[in-house]
Amino acid sequence: MSAVIVDGQLIADEIRAEIAVEVARFKDQVGYPPGLGVILVGDNPASAQYVRMKRRACEAAGMKSVGHLLPATATQEDVETAVKLLDDDPTIHGILIQLPMPAHIDESRILSLVSLGKDADGLHPINIGRLAMKGREPLFTPATPTGCMVLLERMGAKLDGANAVVVGRSNLVGMPVALMLMKANATVTVCHSRTRDLPEIVRRADVVIAAIGRPLYVKGEWLKPGAFVIDVGTNQIDDPTAPRGYRFVGDVDFETAKEVAGAITKVPGGVGPMTITSLMQNTLKSAWRSVSNP
Ligand code: NAP
Repeated sequence: MSAVIVDGQLIADEIRAEIAVEVARFKDQVGYPPGLGVILVGDNPASAQYVRMKRRACEAAGMKSVGHLLPATATQEDVETAVKLLDDDPTIHGILIQLPMPAHIDESRILSLVSLGKDADGLHPINIGRLAMKGREPLFTPATPTGCMVLLERMGAKLDGANAVVVGRSNLVGMPVALMLMKANATVTVCHSRTRDLPEIVRRADVVIAAIGRPLYVKGEWLKPGAFVIDVGTNQIDDPTAPRGYRFVGDVDFETAKEVAGAITKVPGGVGPMTITSLMQNTLKSAWRSVSNP
């Protein structure tokens, strides 16, 4: 059996074209475009690259993007001031705090300073709390998990009653995607570094979300035949044959997994572009809300 290979970039491009139309409609109606504010602290090259990609995608869809790019020496007060500037700006509708922050910055305090209404990354504790509660809805859902859910829908995965295994329990990916799967009525198992016999648990899954940050860790032989596999991992590995001497691979061993899975996402070009698209959707949603319910 050979899996359907899901091209996240293609799906993201389709959705971004729809976003661009909506952005133009907003601009016509309101007089200015939806705006994304970004805060990056330090010089982590991967984070800087993610921020560039997010800002470029917003600008390509006609959105405004404002960046506060602070040095690694920035103090807690500097970062808080930058958040406040964006939060007070009525032309900024979504604020993205690029994580991780340097160790001396209190990341959770920074995240909680973003107004609920501008939490385009969906990581504010109240938005996460509402996501976790039955009968409550967050204003925004987190970008990467939302991208995973859209990919599952496009793959045709039936989540109601399905066994879903999430490998990884981070605040950014594993925990919120597990909550979203639960809201979609899947039976969810969350695995982490202390989980015993991971292959045996993964083998029971109709849906596997791998978000651990370990290159090629989840093997094809662990998978249930026909499983839907979302590979969130983005790991840089050395490759002397690649033009830059390195390349990116996922947390799933794609070559063996594609022989067993029913559908699987690519890395790169899978979840990554969908994360950016979800952020754009949240910013647009927030912009419309700001004019309809200021
Ligand atoms: P993280 O904060 O480092 O969390 C990793 C999680 O994986 C932890 O819960 C950890 O368990 C678990 N884990 C580590 N080794 C494991 C093992 N051998 N077996 C089972 N579980 C294990 O990472 P993250 O921020 O969630 O990111 C995960 C991956 O996704 C990374 O490659 C990252 O680059 C990528 N990512 C991609 C996107 C995108 O848009 N494509 C967005 C975000 C992240 P413990 O909790 O026990 O430590």
